[in-house]
Amino acid sequence: MEIDKELLENTRGFLGHEEGMRLYELAMDVSGRGPCLEVGSYCGKSALYLGAACRKNSGVLFSIDHHRGSEEQQPGEGYFDPETWDPKTCRVDTFALFRQTLEKAGLEQTVIPMVCSSETAARMWATRLSLVFIDGGHAFETAFADYNAWATHLMPGGYLAIHDIFKNPGEGGQAPYQIYSMALASGLFCELSMTKTLGVLRRLSGSREPGFSPEQD
Ligand code: MG
Repeated sequence: MEIDKELLENTRGFLGHEEGMRLYELAMDVSGRGPCLEVGSYCGKSALYLGAACRKNSGVLFSIDHHRGSEEQQPGEGYFDPETWDPKTCRVDTFALFRQTLEKAGLEQTVIPMVCSSETAARMWATRLSLVFIDGGHAFETAFADYNAWATHLMPGGYLAIHDIFKNPGEGGQAPYQIYSMALASGLFCELSMTKTLGVLRRLSGSREPGFSPEQD
């Protein structure tokens, strides 16, 4: 895998190396068949792993983030990082850091930043995706909106990966696990093994969801 170790270590983010390597392997498997997409770019840690695999397969990664930080990344909250504060606008702005990461990694021709909300990005979306990685806001409405917007665009055999899955409520917020469970209950996915808190589902073939014409299956 061609990702600079130092760059990985110096890039802010909440993704463990093992989880990142799992994402890399998943993207290596399918990114030659269609674009990958992630929700929650932050400073680019997961984009380093997914992007490296996409680049190898001449694929692309769409990376969505409004770059204003999630609820828990605002000043005074548990995950606030002063380095992400933009004194000019008096707001969190992680886009500059994300862009730097892409430049340092040589991923500017592979990763396509989409600086907007996930719902806005999804509004006119009509391209089938080989992999969707959901790692955005942790409020239920936000996580559900991300799932609702993107899971339907997965191609048969495509992967749905969701970060921060805690099956035990004592260990962490339940929204990611709730959407993971909804995906499973839909009958459209099979469950693969987890890596730490990274849940992985695979889109089954043979069934069709609303919104797609038959010839696309
Ligand atoms: Mg996460």
